[in-house]
Amino acid sequence: MKILFTASESVPFIKTGGLADVVGALAPVLAKEGHDVRVVIPLFSAIPKEWVDKMEHVTDFEVQLGWRRQYCGIEALKKDGVTWYFIDNKFYFGRPYVYGMGGDEYERFGFFCRSVLNMLPLIDFQPDVIHAHDWQSGMVPALLKIQYAHLPFYAGIKTLFTIHNLQYQGIFGIREVQDVLGLGDSLWTDDKLECYGCANFMKAALVYSDLITTVSPSYSEEIQTAYYGERLDGLLRARKHELFGVLNGIDMADYNPATDKNIAANYSPEDLAGKAACKKALQESLGLEVRSDVPIIGMVGRLSNQKGLDLVDYIIADIMRQDVQLVVLGMGEGRYFNLFSWAEGEYKGRVAARFTMDHALAHQIYAGCDLFLMPSQFEPCGLSQMIAMRYGTLPIVRETGGLRDTVLSYNEDTGDGNGFSFFNYNAHDMLHTIERAIGYYKQEPETWKLLQHRGMTGDYSWDHSAGEYLRLYEKLFEEKQPLEEKDEEPNPVVVDI
Ligand code: ADP
Repeated sequence: MKILFTASESVPFIKTGGLADVVGALAPVLAKEGHDVRVVIPLFSAIPKEWVDKMEHVTDFEVQLGWRRQYCGIEALKKDGVTWYFIDNKFYFGRPYVYGMGGDEYERFGFFCRSVLNMLPLIDFQPDVIHAHDWQSGMVPALLKIQYAHLPFYAGIKTLFTIHNLQYQGIFGIREVQDVLGLGDSLWTDDKLECYGCANFMKAALVYSDLITTVSPSYSEEIQTAYYGERLDGLLRARKHELFGVLNGIDMADYNPATDKNIAANYSPEDLAGKAACKKALQESLGLEVRSDVPIIGMVGRLSNQKGLDLVDYIIADIMRQDVQLVVLGMGEGRYFNLFSWAEGEYKGRVAARFTMDHALAHQIYAGCDLFLMPSQFEPCGLSQMIAMRYGTLPIVRETGGLRDTVLSYNEDTGDGNGFSFFNYNAHDMLHTIERAIGYYKQEPETWKLLQHRGMTGDYSWDHSAGEYLRLYEKLFEEKQPLEEKDEEPNPVVVDI
């Protein structure tokens, strides 16, 4: 099969979150299965020079965006059996940020989506499937259906759209988007592009994609409810027969404590001695008291409300009343920067916080900590809890989305479980779960070792999920069953808003 991924980020080139990990890991796994897999992302200025130097110029052309004509260069490199394309335009992507600070995101990513479609005949690649990821690519399926599908080159291309986070939708003024993408007035009704009076790139994808997936089975159910649905739950319920949850994996080679070059000592499920060395090195490098008997709780991730940090804010004094250390690595909202900066001063030698994007330090935290805290308000999949388990660091999570699908709270009656969890979004439930986990750390080392071993030997590879994606790609070309056709309403997309 010929598959084109379109996304705003991918490791190893550019990463702000889990989307990059998913794109960068899944594409090579599919390529290894013998498929022709190509990925296209913007050529952001933050992509390191070492990669830019490896790129070759494929072609360039001009893209019409309303009254504008913009240069579009296509650069490419081959890696791990995948061809990676980079959309080059310095005006849009040569800025000192990846997302958000200018008010012209609709133009930047409108340009990106249009360029992706326009480049295909010029690079002589006619994909069977375009697999678009998150709102930045949301206009690809929409433009394809609305403006390109009548052309023979594009007519047979099917689309699958993956929601990595429904909270970020790409919401803009209709006039602005029309000005860039030229989508006529008749398209701005609530069964097509209009969304609560605005343009919405995510909604456009949810309406026009042939299939929709999201990154865990639980999240695919949750987003059909008003609580998690971010005002698109009605649309998602209407398309529930084309909506699937496919759990993310992690890059098992990159995140492997037995071979990881970022950490102080390597270790394996059979011999955890190196983990103690990693803990000592982490304490030393972050200025924490060097003690082997104190449990360290780690947190790595975006400092946003989504990650449940208001719960931590609420009871940080109670957490720190325990004999624990806390390590935080993340970037994001100022209020959490303030919280953890304050905590670092207040609990000297017991709390360390770093506010950068630091791949090596993230690995050192996964390896050096004993517990990993992820009390998310919602979590489409979450990679950090899986990475933590792979490093023998037990997760404490709230039972939501992918956290619910990957972490099973230890049950002392049955002996089942691989971590600790709580259900209600409640700070004291979280506190009690932390206390419970610390209790096992201090008093039941055998149980602790068992849970570590289970976590480290879990299968978080992409193999299973890649197979599920392939099945969905094939489904795109299946004949519709007559029964389904009978069931179908004249317009299957009915938004109950
Ligand atoms: P999300 O996609 O919601 O940000 P995920 O748990 O799915 O969260 O993925 C986050 C990924 O980004 C993980 O690989 C995590 O280790 C990494 N990460 C997040 N923040 C940082 C940071 N400040 N430095 C290094 N890695 C980070």
